[in-house]
Amino acid sequence: MPTQRTLSIIKPDAVAKNAIGEIIARFEKAGLKVVAAKMLQLSEEKAGGFYAEHKERPFFKDLVGFMTSGPVVVQVLEGEDAIARNRDLMGATNPKDAAPGTIRADFAETIDANAVHGSDSPESAEREVAYFFGADEICPR
Ligand code: ADP
Ligand code: MG
Repeated sequence: MPTQRTLSIIKPDAVAKNAIGEIIARFEKAGLKVVAAKMLQLSEEKAGGFYAEHKERPFFKDLVGFMTSGPVVVQVLEGEDAIARNRDLMGATNPKDAAPGTIRADFAETIDANAVHGSDSPESAEREVAYFFGADEICPR
């Protein structure tokens, strides 16, 4: 499996729960390395552009409202098969369907406030990492 980079976001609900450290610990324990990180208050424009693929979905407005409701922590995770590995750690989009022990099962209650984002393919990872980080903000290690 190749070494990959993926974009992870700790969403406003998990930041509000003071779960930043516990969530990052799960990435690190699974062998993923944080190679970039920052805390941000997203604007509507920045959140809407990030979720542009969902623009026509009925939940889009609520999603942007939620993602701008408080600060998020955005990080780039690096490791072998990082994209799928992060999705496995996250669990299903709806926490009610998320496997026990996954981040969404343990930290999220609803499908709209579901604790974390993770890139879903190499193409989206490339776009999403570049959406938040310049090359000089990523620290290979
Ligand atoms: P994922 O975050 O697992 O990749 P999607 O890309 O399908 O899921 O959706 C992006 C985000 O939009 C989800 O994480 C969730 O916050 C929100 N979302 C998705 N589907 C719904 C829905 N049916 N109702 C409300 N919010 C949703
Ligand atoms: Mg997605």
